[in-house]
Amino acid sequence: MGEDVEALKRRMPLLDYLRQHNWTGHPASRSEFVGLCPLHEETRPSFYVNTRKDVFYCHGCGQGGDLIRFVQLSRHLSFRQSLACLTPQNIPSDYSGTVLTQAAAFYQQQLDHYPEALSYLNQRGLVDPILIKELEIGYAPGGCLRRHLTAQGYSFDLLRQSGLLNVNGSDAFYQRIVFPLRHGEHVGNLYGRSIGAAFAHRFLPGNKGGLYAWEKVRHYPAVILVEGLFDYAVLRQAGFHNVTCALGTHLNADQFRQLCDVARTVYLTFDVDANQSGQHAAEQLTHRLYAKGIAARRVMLPEGHDPNSFFVQGGDAHQFQSLLEAAQP
Ligand SMILES: [Zn+2]
Repeated sequence: MGEDVEALKRRMPLLDYLRQHNWTGHPASRSEFVGLCPLHEETRPSFYVNTRKDVFYCHGCGQGGDLIRFVQLSRHLSFRQSLACLTPQNIPSDYSGTVLTQAAAFYQQQLDHYPEALSYLNQRGLVDPILIKELEIGYAPGGCLRRHLTAQGYSFDLLRQSGLLNVNGSDAFYQRIVFPLRHGEHVGNLYGRSIGAAFAHRFLPGNKGGLYAWEKVRHYPAVILVEGLFDYAVLRQAGFHNVTCALGTHLNADQFRQLCDVARTVYLTFDVDANQSGQHAAEQLTHRLYAKGIAARRVMLPEGHDPNSFFVQGGDAHQFQSLLEAAQP
């Protein structure tokens, strides 16, 4: 059992566990964090976590110990019960959501400091600062996320598991515009668009989630479905509010279910590329949607265009509206 306990504590450092339960601590020294005690009522922080020794001590109530001790005290459990509730299957997966939320916030702070990132957004036709803020768009310059998050007490293991760091410990996103993908309250994944020569599209490991910003559009009787987030962003900027994005042409099961949850019209606005892959995907999806009683219409952009390039190259809301009206089943 002793070995199991050690393995468990390696897997879940005390500070990670506390953060997972919404504890906020501030660095007090190189290896210490201080915050309000979760075990007694207080208004001035006296609860210290030592990350090197992986233990806590509260100067207010005098309690202290390791992770297991903390679980015993906070949840009024026996030692054995505490161990049981710390087994991997009982550790909520949304913890990685909090570290992704932190990463997304950090990337968002970086955006304004990198002219190359802003000029890339510009080049993709995205200029409205309010929309950029609303979508929480950020920039990953590369090489500084690890330092930022470890300084906040996140363990190296967790950062690697979340995919924010590569196996060699360097930042996974390097010179990428970052869009956080929210799954409900939490950030469930990040999408990174390279502004350099690297492979254009990247997600962190794990599910890309449902349709982008679905909560905002699900009540519209007609929705516009696009492939990419830059398509989404320019349409929003042009005043179309009933837009959502599948993050690719292949819809996962959740996304398909969302589109079919009530009777509605779906305007499929996929890329019209030379190799026809976007249109091929749109055609297949049209059939699948029809089978579920959903009216699907295919919006025919000019040859070689996606919604983003359509607007970037001078298309306007009026012209796009005409394309919507001309869309055929
Ligand atoms: Zn206390």
